[in-house]
Amino acid sequence: MSTSLNKTSKTSNKHSVIEVDHLSVSFEDYKALDDISFTVDEHDFVYVIGPNGSGKSTLLATLTGLLKPTSGTVSLHVDGEIGYLPQKLFNKRNIPITVKEVIYTGIAKPSLHIKPEERKLMESWLDKMQIKHTLHMPIDTLSGGQQQRVYLIRALINQPKLLLLDEPTSALDPSFREHFNQLLETLHQQGTTILYITHDLHEYKDEGKKILYIDQRIHYYGSVKEYKCIHEGGHQHV
Ligand code: ADP
Ligand code: MG
Repeated sequence: MSTSLNKTSKTSNKHSVIEVDHLSVSFEDYKALDDISFTVDEHDFVYVIGPNGSGKSTLLATLTGLLKPTSGTVSLHVDGEIGYLPQKLFNKRNIPITVKEVIYTGIAKPSLHIKPEERKLMESWLDKMQIKHTLHMPIDTLSGGQQQRVYLIRALINQPKLLLLDEPTSALDPSFREHFNQLLETLHQQGTTILYITHDLHEYKDEGKKILYIDQRIHYYGSVKEYKCIHEGGHQHV
């Protein structure tokens, strides 16, 4: 899934982190994604939007390798870790997996025994996400919003160079959502490339960010600013 940075590229000082070329993904006869091509450069922040069922989650799952292209190719060029927050969280009942264990599966090279520094790192993240008391609790005893924070920690704990987020704030309350978005701004400023599936575009600072609008095919890919000019025509209430 990850390959090292191509240091021989001389054409541009920005390199592509994601290259999607004529990608189609079908479920039996249904084409969830139909011949899409795009690239994402390092340090880009891309909102992925589109109606329900438009193939957004399918796209992210294909980028992570969880789904295979039916045709076309996906290449990632990431000089470091990849963080992924899926839309559907682990919610199987009767499997006594704790918060600690969920987060630990996000550590790059987990071993049988958690090292003291890894435990400290987990605790500091739980503190940052305001759920410090949950470390030893079974994940299914947490509220939806708390579970989402645990999975966010799992996606962020390795300081990923590429972050793939599938509706990360859907279960968060508004005040924590703001806190989370500020955290993302910081990560972006530190150089993380971010793909962010959302329905709430209006909430965020959009300077320098991009929109990928998909509905089986790509309907728009460009700056947020231009998208708003085209689609909102200056109207505030849409
Ligand atoms: P979005 O995330 O944009 O709401 P999805 O990528 O989840 O959309 O789904 C796109 C389409 O593919 C939907 O019609 C959905 O029902 C279908 N689909 C997604 N995953 C599967 C699957 N595992 N098996 C069959 N159909 C699927
Ligand atoms: Mg989805």
